[in-house]
Amino acid sequence: MRCIVCNIPMNYSFKKNFNHSNDFDKSFDLGVVEYHKCPKCGLVKSFNHSQMSLHKWEAVNKTFHEFIENQNNTKVVNQPPYIEISQFINILLKEKIVEAPILDWGGGYGSLAKILLKYHNVPSEIFEKYLINNKDKLIDYVDKTSLKVKSYNLVISTAVFEHVTERETLDSIIKQLSNRGSLLIHTLICDSIPNDPSWFYLLPVHTTFFTNKSMAFLMKQWGFVSSIYCPRAKSWILLKTNSSKLLQTIDSINSLLQEDYLIFKQGFVNYWK
Ligand SMILES: [Zn+2]
Repeated sequence: MRCIVCNIPMNYSFKKNFNHSNDFDKSFDLGVVEYHKCPKCGLVKSFNHSQMSLHKWEAVNKTFHEFIENQNNTKVVNQPPYIEISQFINILLKEKIVEAPILDWGGGYGSLAKILLKYHNVPSEIFEKYLINNKDKLIDYVDKTSLKVKSYNLVISTAVFEHVTERETLDSIIKQLSNRGSLLIHTLICDSIPNDPSWFYLLPVHTTFFTNKSMAFLMKQWGFVSSIYCPRAKSWILLKTNSSKLLQTIDSINSLLQEDYLIFKQGFVNYWK
């Protein structure tokens, strides 16, 4: 198996037996899962998920999403901080750091889209390939065919990167961006992935684990030059601009809010060490 960022062979790192884990993990019948690590960027990926049939993978995802969304079972899985993410997006829009139109790629049942519309009057479209039978009339879903002729100035991916099994999916998210488009990411990104089967982030549907280095490489490959991290939203925005005006805007926001609300860096903000 090759690293989806560096395209070099990965090495075996550790394994987890999901059948000897908690009841939630057991219900997916995954058995022993091997995790491999990239020697260059430290990205970790499940070998078993990469070999899984599409049918099985989609079934696993459907079970998982229905579980967390319909039963709102926050004891098992922490949901993204949607209200904080929506506020982060609203501030970026008001300050013209990002622009509409907005696509929420993998937006599921529209949790974020509903909050953006209701509390910030910000419309967004959603692309979701797994949950097609659960459409809410208030949510603006876009299908795969329409997506081919559309581009967006802001693409949102909350809790998507960790579910990705191949590079193609990541690149298809980027393809939806306009030339100057920005990407918002909410996922866990840290300096190194522990070789530990009891690590909390090894969920049945989490397949790929990114490091700060992986993200720095990806940014370069995709043409992003700078990024902003918002600790409250636990999210990054990747930008194709690096102007001094941007720095001034961020300083003025932090000054107004009287906190380090936004953290800016050329390249990737390696907030989690
Ligand atoms: Zn790598």
